Amino acid sequence: MADGAAGHLETGGSSGAVWPIWGHETAVASLALAIREGRVGHAYLMAGPSGIGKATLAQVFAQALCCDATDRPDPGIPCGMCRSCRKISRGTHPDVRTWSLATQAATQKDGKHTTLNIETAREIRAATALRPVEAPRRVIVVDDAETMQGAAQEALLKTLEEPPPAVVLLMLADDAELLMPTIRSRCLAVDLRPVSAGAIARGLVNHGIDPTLAAEVAALAHGRPGWALAAAANPAMLTGEREAVAGALAWIAGTRYDRLATAFKLGDGFSKRRAEIFTELEIALAVWRDVLLAHCGLASHLTYRREVERIVRLAESLDLASIAHAVAATQRCLADLDANVRPRLALEGMVLQWPSP
Ligand SMILES: [Zn+2]
Repeated sequence: MADGAAGHLETGGSSGAVWPIWGHETAVASLALAIREGRVGHAYLMAGPSGIGKATLAQVFAQALCCDATDRPDPGIPCGMCRSCRKISRGTHPDVRTWSLATQAATQKDGKHTTLNIETAREIRAATALRPVEAPRRVIVVDDAETMQGAAQEALLKTLEEPPPAVVLLMLADDAELLMPTIRSRCLAVDLRPVSAGAIARGLVNHGIDPTLAAEVAALAHGRPGWALAAAANPAMLTGEREAVAGALAWIAGTRYDRLATAFKLGDGFSKRRAEIFTELEIALAVWRDVLLAHCGLASHLTYRREVERIVRLAESLDLASIAHAVAATQRCLADLDANVRPRLALEGMVLQWPSP
């Protein structure tokens, strides 16, 4: 999990609630409001791609639920300084516990730990039965929830059907669709949308990152603050993302035959690489938007400024209507894949509508 530590994030948000989180104003506002109004749910499903900030959001929500500062002006906002808030940041609060693939690998030595198994589900179930020790509630965080096998989900379902009092269960999933509908229907959904590049760049600069690097990392982050924070400190991650952009550009600039071959390859691998293929398509969409900007003489506004020469060359070889058509076709493909249209069909339809340079 590449989510950044809550303590490191800037204070942001403009909708009343102010949590130390980059972006996610809507989610923060609704969670803070639930605390203020005393109607916190028993279970939440926080969903969004890896690095978008699920673990950070869960941590700050747990702090807001358990903060013991008596002079808090707003009960929806954690103080971040009291013993309880500090213990939660360090992961040592007895009433706030997290299960994930990493904790499973650390406690159960055998196995590959690519899925949360039935033993882990039983441990979680047992933990929810305990009474809180220090805080008014127990907060149970289940990270990597989308990896739970059928039997593990069934075991957890029992907990969701008879929620113990004073327990808040936070399930974190890269893709909520991978969970059983019966699980999803018993959780309040918190869908995390990509954070704007501007908010990520500001956060990185406040974090001491050089503004030029911050702007590039924010553009490559595709709305994932946790990824941005990790990539700013790790050049290898940045190289991988630059290669992904170069790959999308090569796909777009390729021949009709090569474009189709790539589309079929992605379509055939979709069930196994769903999240990655969505990211590859988001990059292709951002490249097409850059081509559109370049065509309109706005090359200084490109997302992928490092690739400005190739993007301008592509923009000069196409007319405005066909570039706009390509943007729309790529957006439609993303929507179709989200709606479970056959992947090969959706991807083929998209590349056939891309104009040829
Ligand atoms: Zn506190």
